[in-house]
Amino acid sequence: MKLLEGKRGLVFGLANQKSIAWGITQQCHAHGASLGFTYVNEALEKRVRPLAESIGSELILPCDVQSDEQLDKVFEEVERAWGTIDFIVHSVAFADAEDLKNPFVETSRAGFQLALDVSAYSLVAIARRAAKLMTGGGSIIALSYLGAEKVVTNYRVMGVAKAALEASVRELAADLGPQGIRVNAISAGPIKTLAASGIPGFRDLLSRFEERAPLRRTATQEDVGKTSLYFLSDLSSAVTGETHYVDCGFNITAL
Ligand code: NAD
Repeated sequence: MKLLEGKRGLVFGLANQKSIAWGITQQCHAHGASLGFTYVNEALEKRVRPLAESIGSELILPCDVQSDEQLDKVFEEVERAWGTIDFIVHSVAFADAEDLKNPFVETSRAGFQLALDVSAYSLVAIARRAAKLMTGGGSIIALSYLGAEKVVTNYRVMGVAKAALEASVRELAADLGPQGIRVNAISAGPIKTLAASGIPGFRDLLSRFEERAPLRRTATQEDVGKTSLYFLSDLSSAVTGETHYVDCGFNITAL
C-alpha cells in the first residue's frame, strides 16, 4: 500500500545524497508522493537538481529561507504548478562556524539572530505560506536535535535554535490544528551530513553515541525517512505538536 499516493509535498533542505532530506525524499517517492524542492544557492543547485530530477520532480526552486521575497516566490510557483499542497519537509539549519567553536557565552547578537532566523523562524515563515495552500489539511515536519533539551558538547547556539524550533512546532500546531494541519518535529540522532560536519568533534560524538544508545547504533537517513512517512501520511492522523525522537533510544539514557 502506498501511503502518500496523490499527495504533493515541498522539501526544504536537500543539499546532497547524504542529507536527511534525501532519506525523507526517498521514502516519500517510494510511497507515491509528488515532490518539489528548494535549493539555497547556485552551488547547491548543481547537486539538488540532478537528485530531484532522478525522482521525476519538475518543481525545483531557489530559496534562501532568510528572504521573504524568495519564500513568496516559491509558494506562488507551487500554487501555479499544483494549486494546493499536502505536506512540507523543513530540514534546514545554519549557524556561523565561529559560534559553534567558541563557548556559548561568547555568542554574538548577529550570530544568535542568524542561527535562530535560519533554523527556527524559517519554519514559521514557511508554515504561514504553506497553510494557505493546504486547503484539505496537511502535515508539516521539522528536524530537531537533542541539543534543544540538554547541553550537548559543541552544539551551542544551535541548541537554543532547536529549542525555539520545537516551541514553534507546538505554537504552529495549536494555530493550524483547526484547519486540519498537523505540525511535528523529528529529533534525529547524529548522522554524518554536510551540516553535521560543521560541528566540532562530530566524529567523536558519533562513536560515543553508538556505545550508549540502547540499539547500539546510530540512526540513519532511512530511519528518519521511515518515521517521516508516518508523520506525513494518515498514519499519524491524530498526532500534532510532538517532538519525536528517532535516535536509537539515546535520549532515554543517563549515566
Ligand atoms: P544538510 O547539510 O544536508 O542539510 C542542511 C540544509 O540546510 C542544506 O540543504 C542547506 O542548504 C540548508 N540551508 C542552510 N541555510 C539555509 C538558508 N539560509 N536557506 C535555505 N536553506 C538553507 O544537513 P542535515 O544534517 O541533513 O540537516 C538537515 C536538518 O536536520 C537540519 O535542521 C539539522 O539541524 C537537522 N538534524 C541533523 C542531525 C545530524 O546529525 N545530521 C541531527 C538532528 C537534526
